[in-house]
Amino acid sequence: MSSPLRNLPAVNTVLSHPDVDKLHEQMSRAQIIQCVRTVLDDLRNQLRETPDSNPETTHAAVARRTIEAAERLKLRRLNPVINATGVILHTNLGRATLSDSAIARILQAAKATNVELDLDSGRRGRRGVYAEDLIRQLTGASDALIVNNCAAATMLALQGVAAGKEVIISRGQLVEIGGGFRLPDVFEAAGVILKEVGTSNRTRIDDYEKAIHDKTGAILRVHRSNFRVSGFVAEPSAAELVGLARRYNLPMIDDLGSGCLANLTSLNLDEPDVASSLASDADLVLFSGDKLLGGPQAGILLGKADWIARLRRHPMARATRVCKLTLAALEATLEDHLAGNAFDSVPVLSMLSMPAKEVQERCERAVDELSEAGLDLSVVPCQSEVGGGSMADQSISSFAVRIGGSHANELLRSLRTSEARILGRIENGAVLLDFRAIHPKDDSILVNELRRIIRKPWRTDR
Ligand SMILES: *Cc1c(COP(=O)(O)O)cnc(C)c1O
Repeated sequence: MSSPLRNLPAVNTVLSHPDVDKLHEQMSRAQIIQCVRTVLDDLRNQLRETPDSNPETTHAAVARRTIEAAERLKLRRLNPVINATGVILHTNLGRATLSDSAIARILQAAKATNVELDLDSGRRGRRGVYAEDLIRQLTGASDALIVNNCAAATMLALQGVAAGKEVIISRGQLVEIGGGFRLPDVFEAAGVILKEVGTSNRTRIDDYEKAIHDKTGAILRVHRSNFRVSGFVAEPSAAELVGLARRYNLPMIDDLGSGCLANLTSLNLDEPDVASSLASDADLVLFSGDKLLGGPQAGILLGKADWIARLRRHPMARATRVCKLTLAALEATLEDHLAGNAFDSVPVLSMLSMPAKEVQERCERAVDELSEAGLDLSVVPCQSEVGGGSMADQSISSFAVRIGGSHANELLRSLRTSEARILGRIENGAVLLDFRAIHPKDDSILVNELRRIIRKPWRTDR
């Protein structure tokens, strides 16, 4: 009676396999044991439930499966990836890639840091005060407050300004930002009453005015980041809304989403910028730190000092405060903007503004370096996107390395799970690696990885 179940190698035997032992370079013994146990459990189940499937249970086979399980475990970690998708602010890839100075400052702040200590006086300091000063300097706003993200900024603004009251918003601006962040739900969670006015395509200032009564707490304007309406459309400007709000002594909250500080007009990109919103005299202006600002995930509230002071005292502000690492990166990013060379130093802006010709040259260099690989490689024009729910209908001319041949999906997977974790896209059945959103310093990593992958018989993978 030789039961295949009993022939399974013991955990310790698997651990002693030289290839499994090598995993110690990459993970703890506890994690390796976890991989071995998972593999053995799976095999046991398979042997019980479908004995006819006859899985290999030798020492070597179990070791191989353990290494595969370890690979899958490693893929679940936060890994650096190469973004060849052509989407500059890719939410699934953490949006803005940070500037060199921001990265350096995160490393410094990782140890003990004066996040809530004023080193000059030795007294307790307010978290975020320096970054808020920088934002004020950059924008001319009277005051600023930094929270965890723009969704938190919206919640805080609604709750802090208009809890229990009605907030008026145009029907055309009742958006879903993505990831299930829907404005009607935000209103409800913030404890304010949604008062929608107008229609999906047209809302007039009168519509707002007619909705105002003694229960009204604020007027909210939300940028339609991720879609556009065109045709028979109209809505009041920020300045008109502020004018109306003033007459009724109400605050006007302007949720910009992407919060562009730089001037993008030379790039022909149309995105509401922070300066215009402040110029309209909105009471509160909200935007993200990791969209066009090019910094870490954060939500920034700008505006009138008394409103900001009120929000700063709100318990939601404490519950959504940012960590020191975020502040460190944000400070450095804001300093990059202040230094006036953000288009060079802030990756989001340099990626956005890089001339297509330069992207093309980088692609051509990569293809040249891979010429000996004997692959169907070419450089093709394509369109990149800003992403992150910005500039929904505006794309940017770009170039990509096209990898021809069949099995595009398998190649895409090989690229994604490779050591360099390269993320591309498929267009017309071929893999495209768009170089616009790749950090130029990573071009050579990508080329080297491609060389390795191409040598592997990926065509017969799986
Ligand atoms: C992206 C966006 C948000 C959410 O910002 P997060 O920083 O991701 O929370 C809110 N409002 C608008 C208009 C946006 O575009």
